[in-house]
This record gives sequence, structure tokens and C-alpha cells, in this order.
Amino acid sequence: MKITSFLVLLLFVAGAFAGCDQDKNASAAGASTTAPAAAQNPPVDLTLPKLSLPADSGPLPAIDSARTMQYVKEIVAFGPRPIGSANHKKVEDYILAHLKGDAVEEDAFTADTPEGKFPARNIIAKFPGAKDGIIVIASHYDTNYPLRQTSYIGANDGASSSALLLEFANQMRGKKLDGYSVWLVWDDAEEAVKSWSDTDSLYGIRHLAEKWEADGTLKKTKAFLLADMIGDADLNIERDSNSTTWLEAVVYEAASRLGYQSHFFARTMTVDDDHLPFVKRGVPSADLIDFDYGYDNVFWHTPQDTVDKLSPKSLEIAGSTILETVSILDKMEALPPK
Ligand SMILES: [Zn+2]
Repeated sequence: MKITSFLVLLLFVAGAFAGCDQDKNASAAGASTTAPAAAQNPPVDLTLPKLSLPADSGPLPAIDSARTMQYVKEIVAFGPRPIGSANHKKVEDYILAHLKGDAVEEDAFTADTPEGKFPARNIIAKFPGAKDGIIVIASHYDTNYPLRQTSYIGANDGASSSALLLEFANQMRGKKLDGYSVWLVWDDAEEAVKSWSDTDSLYGIRHLAEKWEADGTLKKTKAFLLADMIGDADLNIERDSNSTTWLEAVVYEAASRLGYQSHFFARTMTVDDDHLPFVKRGVPSADLIDFDYGYDNVFWHTPQDTVDKLSPKSLEIAGSTILETVSILDKMEALPPK
């Protein structure tokens, strides 16, 4: 009941702001342009499906959160990294330098945007596993283009999750994974260059999903896990109605095994993010995003998105939960289709 009324309140707020010209890429569940219409939407079903999951066995994962935070600091130290900038290229080189010796694929292409054409590049690090199939973990690394003339460095929005993927590479390097192969994807040009729309957003991941559909990779992709804005010191990861319900149930189980469930899914939103091109192609996908960054999300897409708002603990919560999610998926007999 409390949740339902909270949702209605959110719907009203989302409706009230629907006219503003922000590149808002998330909205409260079922948001409409007018509050009365929104209020008539049925409440979102917050119950997770009951899955028969393998028993908790073996040690729980733990990441090096201090090292991850150091990566965040090093990424933001380059300054704003919008597509087309010299800093953007420096961050690409930084990521690649940390993947020396790993199996890396670069997916370079030209992003055709309302502000012109830009070179863009997805970076994929592949860690082979014993089981047939791939789990993709993704993060965008570019910063918001319209804020390029400001001091905006996207410590949480882009840097935190990109740093986390570098730490995942550290965890997986040199091991033969006994589950599925894990492919880490630093995707480019997630941000809109003018205002968020189906065509002005997600340039990198749309390119990659198309490519993987054509070459058959998508058929082997068992799950797509997306991390975005997961460094917020006050971590509240949303339940997202665009994500795959059974996969969110696995994420919640993973968080619960670690004792981190209170940071997950207190609220449901409908989030447009890098998972959408995979959702649309039938790949089970979950977006792990905290869209309440500062009270009422005030730090999002502002020059206040800086490292002092983040905490190593939040990186650890998100990171360990993602690794435990992979571990559960590895042990499941068969993964449900989308
Ligand atoms: Zn953003």
C-alpha cells in the first residue's frame, strides 16, 4: 500500500515535469504526460517470481573497492569525456591499457548524431568460460555531451560503473571461469547529444547489438547485465520495468545472499538505458541503476556529479552483487528465455 501510494506520487511528479526539455531517460512506472491519466494506471506488480535457484555454496565474491575507487578517480581526472573530445580518446586508451594481455575486441564506428558525425568505439574484453554461452556486463564510459563546456565529469554517471568493470577484469584475469564466458563491454556514446530520443541516445550499444545480432553472438548471450550510476554513497538500485523479471529475481537473490538486499528494488521505475537494444532483441537483461542520486536525483547531469558523492562500499555492494548474480546464473540448470 505504501509502495502504491509512493508510485502514484512519483507518477504525479513525472507527469508534472513531462513537458520540460531535459534529456530525461527514466520515468516513474507507467508515467504519462498528465497526472490524472497516470493515476489510472494499474499499480506495478512488485512481487518477484519464485525461481528454483541452486543452493548457496562456495565463498561469496568480494571486489577490491579501494582499487575500484582509485580507477574512478583516475577516469574523472581526465576531465569531461564527451564523444569527439581529446579526453574521450584518453579514457579509451586508459581502459585499453588496463586490459593488456586480455582478449579485447574493439568495435569502432561512426556515430551519426544531430551534432554531426563522431568516431565512437565500444571496447569488449572476453573471459572464456567452460559453459557454452556468454554473460555480458556493460557500462558506458562517455560523459554527457550538452554539458561538455562545463566542469561535468560524470563520477557516478559513467566513471563508477566503468571502473567497476575494470575491477571485474582483475577478478577474472588468468582464471578459467567454470561457468559461462563473461564479456565486459565499455560502451560508447550512451548519452544524447541534444535531447534524449530513440535515435539520439545509446549509439554505441545499438551498434553493438545490431552487429551481434548479425554475427550470431546474440543467440549465445544468456544475460545482459548493465551497471549505471552505482557509486552513489546512498545506494538505492531501482527495480526497472523494462528489465527481465526473472533476471531481477536472480539479482535480488544474489544481493540477499550478501546481505545487501535493502539497497535493491525499493522503488520501481521504467528506465531507458543501454539494456534496451538487448531487451528488444529478446536477451534477458537487467539494468542496475540508482536514479536517486542526491535528494530527488539533484546531482544527476550536473557538475556536482563528483567523487565526494560516491563511496567504495557502494561500489562493493554493486560489484559483489553482480558477480554473485553471475555465479548463480552459472549454476542454474537452464536459464529461462526472455
Ligand atoms: Zn548520463
